[in-house]
Amino acid sequence: MLTLSRSDLLRTQNYIGGIWCDAASGRWHDVSDPSTDTVFSRVPDSDPEDAQAATNAASRAFESWRNVSARERANLLKRWHRLILDNSEDLARLMSREQGKSLAEAMGEARYGAAYVEWFAEQATRSHGDALVPGMPGHMQLVLREPVGVVAAVTPWNFPLAMIARKIAPALAAGCTVVAKPAEDTPLTALALAALAEEAGLPPGTINMVTASRGNTPATVGSWLEDSRVRKLTFTGSTPVGKYLARASADTLKRLSLELGGNAPFIVFEDADVDAAVDGLMRGKFRNSGQTCVSPNRVYVHDGIYSQFVTQLKAAVEALRIGPAEHKDSQIGPMINGRAIEKIERHVCDALDQGATLITGGHRVRNEIADGPFYYAPTILGDASASMTLHCEETFGPLVPLFRFSDEQQVISQANDTAYGLAAYFYSQDPARIWRVSRQLEAGVIGINEGVVASEIAPFGGIKESGYGREGSHYGLDDYLQLKYLCQGNLE
Ligand code: NAP
Repeated sequence: MLTLSRSDLLRTQNYIGGIWCDAASGRWHDVSDPSTDTVFSRVPDSDPEDAQAATNAASRAFESWRNVSARERANLLKRWHRLILDNSEDLARLMSREQGKSLAEAMGEARYGAAYVEWFAEQATRSHGDALVPGMPGHMQLVLREPVGVVAAVTPWNFPLAMIARKIAPALAAGCTVVAKPAEDTPLTALALAALAEEAGLPPGTINMVTASRGNTPATVGSWLEDSRVRKLTFTGSTPVGKYLARASADTLKRLSLELGGNAPFIVFEDADVDAAVDGLMRGKFRNSGQTCVSPNRVYVHDGIYSQFVTQLKAAVEALRIGPAEHKDSQIGPMINGRAIEKIERHVCDALDQGATLITGGHRVRNEIADGPFYYAPTILGDASASMTLHCEETFGPLVPLFRFSDEQQVISQANDTAYGLAAYFYSQDPARIWRVSRQLEAGVIGINEGVVASEIAPFGGIKESGYGREGSHYGLDDYLQLKYLCQGNLE
């Protein structure tokens, strides 16, 4: 049973132009609980007709929203922020049910997502252009920052609240309006957020939300890619889909923000505080059961401390409790779906075939508490090597492969030997090494003696094939603004 204090937050319709509505086709798609793989709700299976209705509403709303004062936009966002916090327990229950993360993690995500809304409410009033020192006599030269227009937001299932909040909040703060499509697996949290935005008083058409099945998603989002009224696409998801979206939106030359996949290295040098490194790895790796884009994917441990590190890590991993969100002790939940668990199995099999050693885990789990098909035991593999699939693909699950190293330059090359560049972590107590390694690691986000790094105050995003654009921080608003240069002559 899904019990909410406010049952009206369980929304199962699209939100377009301030109206809650079914898909024009009348079709639906199911929403399942990954802890049991059973259907518990359904939402509209939208198609291009619904997407176009959303664009129409967002385009109309943009004409007035862009002229609403920054202070008023900020006040509305602050009301939305308050409502997210006030209803965080219900949002957490929804999120846990459709995504599988523990209630404690889901509560943390509600606060994390809300923090972006508050941050960008504050940033709304601090955005400004420039008056240039005139380059010619009798001239006035100004730079304005204007909202880019209608923004399409497409988000993944692993953070059903935070990913969409950190796109919608800066867009609205900048004066843009939004058409959004959450992931097929996790539409309900996004719809509940839209309900709270409506309650906060955000005008009809400023946020439009359409849901779609995986089958209908390409055509639904495709309608936005082709539509020149949609001036920007902000996407969080996998690198292959990000590349496809970049190509498909080229005809209308949209602004793009692409927050894509990662393959984070986590390096433990011989001078590291091993207790802190194990603790940082546990927090970074097993958050959301390993299903995060910044999750350490390749763990490099110096030969000199390898045995000590393995002993401590094994004890910590074997103490993790596996179970569904409603079980208060659960720390590792189910994987999101069958494809996700099959990918982990593929990585483990390939590594074992190529000579990795199984330190713990390595199998699915099913028992009276974890009673579903998608639970996978937290797993450590030793003696991993660069030829293994897990070295070049992100596993997105509770798998820790350990690579040995003995030399600083060698491990930096290995860490950078990937097409991705989202996050990287290392543990060392040597100040000179900390600067040296920080400068050489190829990633947009670096954790130094810290395993959890994301924050609304900091720029989040990748380099290389992890994408471009930054979310959060004072840079985050720039992705939703364009510069306009004004030159007035004949003043003298
Ligand atoms: P995904 O398969 O790329 O899907 C992400 C979103 O794109 C979903 O809404 C999906 O809809 C939609 N989509 C898929 N194919 C599409 C197409 N052809 N046209 C238009 N939209 C399409 O990624 P995911 O499996 O949900 O999420 C996991 C990935 O996201 C991982 O690679 C992870 O690293 C990355 N991620 C990155 C960040 C970051 O900030 N860099 C944060 C979180 C996650 P459907 O659900 O309907 O398929």
